[in-house]
Amino acid sequence: MSSPNTTAPRHIRLTSHSGGTGAPSLLWGAANPAVRGPVVGTTTSREHRNVIGTHSGSYSVYRALAVAAGALSRSHKADLTNTSPTDAIGPYPQWSDPERIVSLDPWGAMVADVFAEELKAGVDIRPTIAVTKAHVILPEVIEAVQKGRLKPDGKMLLPSGAAMVTKAAIEPVWYLPGVAKRFGCTETDLRRVLFEETGGMYPELVTRGDLEVFLPPIGGQTIYIFGSPRDLANPEVELTARVHDECNGSDVFGSDICTCRPYLTHAIEECIRGAQPREAGGRGGVGLIAYSRKEGRALGEVTKFLVYNARKRQVGGDTADQYFARTECVAGVQDMRFQELMPDVLHWLGVRKIHRLVSMSNMKYDAITQSGIEVGERVNIPDELIPADARVEMDAKMAAGYFTPGEVPDARKLKETKGRELE
Ligand SMILES: [Zn+2]
Repeated sequence: MSSPNTTAPRHIRLTSHSGGTGAPSLLWGAANPAVRGPVVGTTTSREHRNVIGTHSGSYSVYRALAVAAGALSRSHKADLTNTSPTDAIGPYPQWSDPERIVSLDPWGAMVADVFAEELKAGVDIRPTIAVTKAHVILPEVIEAVQKGRLKPDGKMLLPSGAAMVTKAAIEPVWYLPGVAKRFGCTETDLRRVLFEETGGMYPELVTRGDLEVFLPPIGGQTIYIFGSPRDLANPEVELTARVHDECNGSDVFGSDICTCRPYLTHAIEECIRGAQPREAGGRGGVGLIAYSRKEGRALGEVTKFLVYNARKRQVGGDTADQYFARTECVAGVQDMRFQELMPDVLHWLGVRKIHRLVSMSNMKYDAITQSGIEVGERVNIPDELIPADARVEMDAKMAAGYFTPGEVPDARKLKETKGRELE
């Protein structure tokens, strides 16, 4: 393995000026993939690049480290043999509406098929979406089987509690004019702020107005489908769905200050039951979990833990009436998740109706319905699944407009709802 110090060019290649005329054209929202053109974020043949930024989201930085450490050749080209999707998704009519999907590439899983010619001609086109199959085994689902809430059907849910899923990983691909429109700002302002707030990381944002697509260095999404992916696009088939934002502390480590994991596993149970055949006590539909990497309301985990300390140490202790104020003190805002881009993944899947939305968030509900997807029933988290210390979060959110079929806590109740002490 050679060191990049010996193979890398001595001069720095700026990407802020047009690299030439070799780049395939990219017409966002075109129905025909040949007209739409591939997303090319390669760092090797820069004359082919037609986007700002590069692939793999935040992991692009690790790729740079691998090159710097001499572990990865910068000319490595992915061998995509046998990597094609296990299930075909789309194309759906939503794919050809340039305003319906602005934060992912709907053709991202199919590049080997639809851009076969360009690939053959040597253009380094990478999939931004991968679709595979898996068994998921969760203690909460095993418990649901043991307690008789779920009945194994031998196909979708095994007696062991393992559930069969189709899953997809999705990297962010932003069509800047569309993203700006979603957030009600001008494209010029969006480009400038993205440039400045990343410490000037992508000069093309301000120098290359001709490049309209940006591969941002952020986390993407993972979806889990219970049942047939095709059924997601059929409004006649009952869809149970949850859109969930990452919370490592609860989702993975079982921290009890919030309801994230209990809500997620409750939703998975609902999705399994929703997709199981009626003979097995199911609803004969399809289930979907869309998981977004937006740790700690997209404020990050450091901010989140600072807020926990501020909440627990404030005079009077951790009370529901101060829940949002404490986040705002540390972060400057209550929430940076901005659900505006979230429905894109649903449109990629062809979803037109969610019969049962397993979420109480008014922000998610509003974003989904405003994007043109009909929502039927809203399913809340059962009270017995809310950890005692998470009551503060739950009451504060319900008072702020989260959906609840029960009573909305008033100002007096919010002062009374108190969390555990720090020590
Ligand atoms: Zn959480």
